Amino acid sequence: MKYLLIEPINKSPYPPLGLMRISTMLQRLDKDAIITEHNNDDLSLLQQDIDEIYITTLFTWEIPKVKSVIKDLRNKYPKSKIHIGGIAITIAKEEFIDLIPNMELHIGLHPVAENMPPDYTKTFGRKLKTSLTSITRGCVRNCPFCFVPTMEGKICYRGNWEQDISDKFSRITFWDNNFLAIPKFEQLVEKISTYNKIVDFNQGLDAAYFTDERAKLLTSLRLDCLRFAFDLKEKEKYVVKAINNAHKYYNGEVSCYVLYGFNDTPEQLYYRINILNELGAFSYPMRYRSNLAVKKRIIPVGWSKEVMRGFELTLHFYYRKGMISAKREAFIDIYGKTPEEFIKKMEDIYYYDLNLRKKQIG
Ligand code: SF4
Repeated sequence: MKYLLIEPINKSPYPPLGLMRISTMLQRLDKDAIITEHNNDDLSLLQQDIDEIYITTLFTWEIPKVKSVIKDLRNKYPKSKIHIGGIAITIAKEEFIDLIPNMELHIGLHPVAENMPPDYTKTFGRKLKTSLTSITRGCVRNCPFCFVPTMEGKICYRGNWEQDISDKFSRITFWDNNFLAIPKFEQLVEKISTYNKIVDFNQGLDAAYFTDERAKLLTSLRLDCLRFAFDLKEKEKYVVKAINNAHKYYNGEVSCYVLYGFNDTPEQLYYRINILNELGAFSYPMRYRSNLAVKKRIIPVGWSKEVMRGFELTLHFYYRKGMISAKREAFIDIYGKTPEEFIKKMEDIYYYDLNLRKKQIG
């Protein structure tokens, strides 16, 4: 049979792991499987005879575009079976029900593909340099802004995670949602160390679980960097302690994901990034977008478009990959010494950019 794997919108630096696992699943179910990968919405060069199509979905604000690709696929392949899965469909399945005939919706994790290793020959146009895996799915927490509890439920082991590790890569990227909350953490660290590869806990570590003992153990691995999350101000005492523990045992880069635009204000964002900067940690601000958002750019309550846009411009133009570096002088220069200065500076940047664009158009 001939299969087509489609990632209709391709903005992530990583390939779609779900489709890579589905590729392995199809090869194991059908020894004559011919599998084509495709990573955009241009279907013109695709061959005509395809038996089954698998489409992944990610963000809900991409749904209109994904729906349009699905309709185009149905027109191009009137008889093929179409499978759709991924995050957006799990959150908003009603958007897809009855969209086209002969379509199967996969809600949540695919029960068979989930246990398959990724097909590393299908990287959807990316130059992949790392094995991708997760030892667990789900999470012990239930943070109000996070889709993980809906998509994956409570924390549980993926018993066969080691089959995801390929000899051809010198790195392993773990996509566990909450690695430090895994029971038998110590044995797992020991197991990971036997691979002697550079490891990255890519989703951020839960600062509340990063005790002195765990810091010592985890930093015995060949870490790429250490990432935590500072999403809510109430987590401050854990974050401060975790970063201090990290610096005690680890000389590499320590960073924190910082959610903003969710039940906060610009002043509260400044407070968190300023603390991180004082602690010598990098901040990686991530703007909140509702799971149910159909529009990407909604200005949250407590924010103005000027401050939001001004802040986003600083991330684009002053810092590498949107990450605020730990350099104190530069931080003060860009964001100021107080929340009030921060707001004024962000507004100034917004108006500077607006005038510049007006001049360019005029
Ligand atoms: S700890 Fe992280 S993964 Fe778990 S629910 Fe909270 S944000 Fe989501």
